[in-house]
Amino acid sequence: MSPAARPKHVPIRTCVGCRTAGDKRGLMRVVRTPDGPVAFDPTGRAAGRGAYLCADEKCIGLAQKKRILDRHLRQPTPPELYEALLAEAAARAVNLDGTDATHGTYAASAKAATSGGARGDGHAARA
Ligand SMILES: [Zn+2]
Repeated sequence: MSPAARPKHVPIRTCVGCRTAGDKRGLMRVVRTPDGPVAFDPTGRAAGRGAYLCADEKCIGLAQKKRILDRHLRQPTPPELYEALLAEAAARAVNLDGTDATHGTYAASAKAATSGGARGDGHAARA
């Protein structure tokens, strides 16, 4: 838990959906590769013209509805791109929720059953 804050080196990008600027790592990069279609760039390092979106289905939906990415990248974006972005956003949301839920469940059950050995956190996390 050491906050290694280096403000000068944090790349700030703007979501093309909600226009909110944020840490590059909190955004998803879409790239128009030099010789291929527009695609989701999980690494954020692919060569080509890029655009950024929040890992939020609202922003993804907005971008699709208003063809924001099409305009930014000057190329039609395939439906598969939005599916990939939505999947990524969902995966990130699950990871965040899962971490919190597991932690909370564990803390609660540890408090309730001081000497008990039965934990169902794996089962509970699937709900
Ligand atoms: Zn956004």
